[in-house]
Amino acid sequence: MAKKNEVDVDLNEELKTLRHDKWRSQLVWMASIIIVVLVIAFFLASTVGLQEQVLTSYQEKTLKLGLVFMIVLLVGYLLDREERLRKINVTLIKNLQKTSEMLRYRMNQLAVLNRISLILSSSLNMTESFTYMMKDLCQKLPLEGGILYLVSGDKIEAKSIYNLNELYNINQFPPCQRVTQVVGMGKGDPLTLTDIKTTEKMSQDDLFYKEEFDSAIIVPLMSNNILKGVFLAFSRKPEKSLGPEEADFLKIIGLQLTLSISNSELYSKVSTEKLMEERKLSAVIENMGDGVVALDRSFNILLVNSVAKNILTRSAPESSGSDLATILNQQIYLDLWREALLNHEGPAVREFDVEGPSHLTLIVLATPLKDVLGRIEGVIMVLRDVTHEREVMKLKDDFISTISHELRTPLTSIKAYTDMLMEGAISKEDSVNYLKVVKEETDRLSLLLDDLLDLSLLRSGKYDLERSLQAINPTIDMAINAISQPAVKKNLKLLYEAKDLPPVTISSNHIYRALVNLLQNAVKYTPEGGSITVNSGTDPNYLWITVSDTGIGIGPEEQLKIFDKFYQVESSSTRSHGGAGIGLSLVKQLIELHGGTIEVASEVGKGSTFTIKLPLR
Ligand code: ADP
Repeated sequence: MAKKNEVDVDLNEELKTLRHDKWRSQLVWMASIIIVVLVIAFFLASTVGLQEQVLTSYQEKTLKLGLVFMIVLLVGYLLDREERLRKINVTLIKNLQKTSEMLRYRMNQLAVLNRISLILSSSLNMTESFTYMMKDLCQKLPLEGGILYLVSGDKIEAKSIYNLNELYNINQFPPCQRVTQVVGMGKGDPLTLTDIKTTEKMSQDDLFYKEEFDSAIIVPLMSNNILKGVFLAFSRKPEKSLGPEEADFLKIIGLQLTLSISNSELYSKVSTEKLMEERKLSAVIENMGDGVVALDRSFNILLVNSVAKNILTRSAPESSGSDLATILNQQIYLDLWREALLNHEGPAVREFDVEGPSHLTLIVLATPLKDVLGRIEGVIMVLRDVTHEREVMKLKDDFISTISHELRTPLTSIKAYTDMLMEGAISKEDSVNYLKVVKEETDRLSLLLDDLLDLSLLRSGKYDLERSLQAINPTIDMAINAISQPAVKKNLKLLYEAKDLPPVTISSNHIYRALVNLLQNAVKYTPEGGSITVNSGTDPNYLWITVSDTGIGIGPEEQLKIFDKFYQVESSSTRSHGGAGIGLSLVKQLIELHGGTIEVASEVGKGSTFTIKLPLR
């Protein structure tokens, strides 16, 4: 763009002289009128023959001479005026040319500005848009390159560079004294530096020195009186020196750059916040205890968390393989999805059992997935694996019926025997036997109620174990004694050899309860003629006691569950023995309260071995 914005004053000068010429033109008009009057007078006088009578010949000559002089004056004036008008015309044309050139210049500036604002607003990547902008500017202005600095905290850092001689790493950019100065001033006006090589004092590591700038313009980028950055434009050639005119233009470019920086900051803030939100949300969804699956309106999976993947894979029918979309493509999920899409009011819920690689009970809740305008975009399904809860519920139900039975059986026999005793017509021997039965049944009841009470105390955490360092052999002896009679009754061999065991920190009462429970089970689940063996010993860290029987044994699946509360192996052979399914659960908790463990090894039809381990230290 050419520099053409001076206002021409010649035209004004010309017009001024033309205006001052007014009295001259009035004089000329008067002279012209006099000439005309005189010419008419002469003409009339000569036609009527008065000329000779009124004027002497001398007067006549003088008059004619005056007339000729006046005509010459008039012609001279007219010629002079003509010349002046011509000059004005030329000046006018020149001015018109200048104005049109200036207009073209301004139009050009506007076009550049338009393009640059488009470039800056089309990308939120400042480095990218700055490079495009500089490319454009260097074609239109006597610029050779530029640098964009951004303020971050109390530092100013080069963000983007264009057309520098050296290849700088943007993070180790040479310092620039003048830029630092402008930043320090914190004002909005551009600083124009010309003839830099001769006028500026620079150190050798200064950017201006290194890059041999001849002229430069430093434009502070201010937004709401806050310095956002600095835009530096430079030229290396003296013939392309940057001046105030470029500074004015670059100031406007600076406004655009500031706007762009603010936009980019806002965008990065919003996108960072959005990213954080998204991350938080996906972390929440991923770490949810329930499975979550989002499906679109065409039943495509939009999102699935790892719990849902796990549930779906475990519940997959053999035919569907491991592909989640295929697993989900089952009637029950399709129905839920359709229901949620159609029924906008509440969620659609189903509880159902699935037989995949393992048996699962699932509750699936499907709700419509809506966008911000409330339009339904798909369905969110929440999958909850309630297999364990349902099993526990079933166990509790079973327990109630079992415990009622367990209570009723001894009570019935107690009642029957006491009735008979009260009738009185029985021998002494019989009445002793009846009373024995009543006592046995009462003991059974009291043991069962003790177990129940202990279990509820253990559950509430109020169980108080008073432990002390003591020998364990007396406790083992007592427990064996407690079951020796029922064992003899069932014709079971009871094998036990006391070992020399070190003292151990126990509550003997509770270890006794645990051992009695194990021994009672051994008696209960070992057919007549079998044997029960109690063994003991130590390892470096613990003392162990085993209770083995040659009974009915426990299957591998059941072995995992027998220590659960209320669990009883579902088979006619075990059910016939009664029990409430709380014994082993109680044993486990008592042993664990001692810091120990209990394990079972068993084979169906061959027998079981329960091992208790108690820590020695
Ligand atoms: P229960 O009162 O039913 O015996 P437990 O908690 O003591 O309850 O035992 C749970 C289940 O474990 C029993 O119902 C039984 O099926 C099985 N069980 C326990 N001990 C033995 C054993 N020694 N031999 C075979 N099965 C056993």
